[in-house]
Amino acid sequence: MKEDGHVAVITLESGEMIDGDLFIDCTGFRSLLLGEAMGAEYLDWSNYLPCNRAVAVPSENIGEPIPYTRSTAQQAGWQWRIPLQHRTGNGHVFSDAFISEDEATATLLTNLEGKPLADPRMLQFTTGRRSFFWKKNCVALGLSAGFMEPLESTAIHLIQVGIAWLLALLPDKRFNQLEIDEYNRIISTIYEQTRDFIILHYKANEREDSAFWKQCRDMDVPESLQRRMDLFRASGRCLIQGDELFSTNSWLAVLLGQNIWPETYNNTAESMDESALQEMLAGMQSRVNQAASALPSHQEFINRCCPALPPT
Ligand SMILES: Cc1cc2nc3c(=O)[nH]c(=O)nc-3n(C[C@H](O)[C@H](O)[C@H](O)COP(=O)(O)OP(=O)(O)OC[C@H]3O[C@@H](n4cnc5c(N)ncnc54)[C@H](O)[C@@H]3O)c2cc1C
Repeated sequence: MKEDGHVAVITLESGEMIDGDLFIDCTGFRSLLLGEAMGAEYLDWSNYLPCNRAVAVPSENIGEPIPYTRSTAQQAGWQWRIPLQHRTGNGHVFSDAFISEDEATATLLTNLEGKPLADPRMLQFTTGRRSFFWKKNCVALGLSAGFMEPLESTAIHLIQVGIAWLLALLPDKRFNQLEIDEYNRIISTIYEQTRDFIILHYKANEREDSAFWKQCRDMDVPESLQRRMDLFRASGRCLIQGDELFSTNSWLAVLLGQNIWPETYNNTAESMDESALQEMLAGMQSRVNQAASALPSHQEFINRCCPALPPT
């Protein structure tokens, strides 16, 4: 470390020393540079997102693949099913405060559609983020910056936006603090918007059959999410700011899909003629149906455009 708090060199296990102007921490959960050397504490969000384990196993494909990932709620978490060309990826994300690792593994294996192709693998995590992402000449990307539980598969997106904003604010050797502050402000906002969208899935549940889901429904949510839910309930407004990852359509799918309905509608709807609106929506539905019925199945599309080589 230099006197001014900048990272000077990294010493490898072999003893080799690597110096540099800018250091990017990609050391995963260990966060060796930003977390350990720069002292960025981990802000733990498990009071909002209590799942802290995932058990994963591949299985044999059964029939033609569906063109999407399916997430299914379980007693103390949820299960993913990702159809790939030669196998299906499966996993059970859960909170070990509510079920044991053995129970979670049994649930996963019971719910597989095809035979398992390997032994289940257990992973541990804590949803949260570092209190800052960039200090002096050190920036963290990926798990060294934070981890979001995988319900919306956002980890690689967060890495990508981290790279994009680092390029937009790429420093010179003076490391202007204004650029560093701006990066930290933007990335914090992106992490928090992503977190809020995932929390909504848990908060807006109506299940009565499990202590896990009841706790999620009763929990306090971040003020930013509470405001969004209150505004939607009050007026049907779902406002998106700037280039948020999740669009109005995504928010509406979860709000309405999990039974959060507005008490009244946005009054601009008064300016529309109802029969013209019905006609427009019917036309839209008919065009969507026509386009969908003309499309090949997912398997036909894969065969035509991107068949993978057999696994070796
Ligand atoms: C089952 C599963 C499914 C996932 N699915 C998705 C998905 O669908 N979409 C998505 O966006 N994300 C997904 N993710 C998350 C995504 O894969 C990870 O967030 C991402 O790979 C993290 O990359 P990383 O480089 O930050 O960390 P890591 O992959 O953990 O890499 C860190 C590296 O640093 C090395 N390292 C640590 N300390 C040292 C040291 N002292 N010296 C040298 N090397 C060191 C480690 O060995 C490791 O190779 C999934 C993750 C899992 C486990």
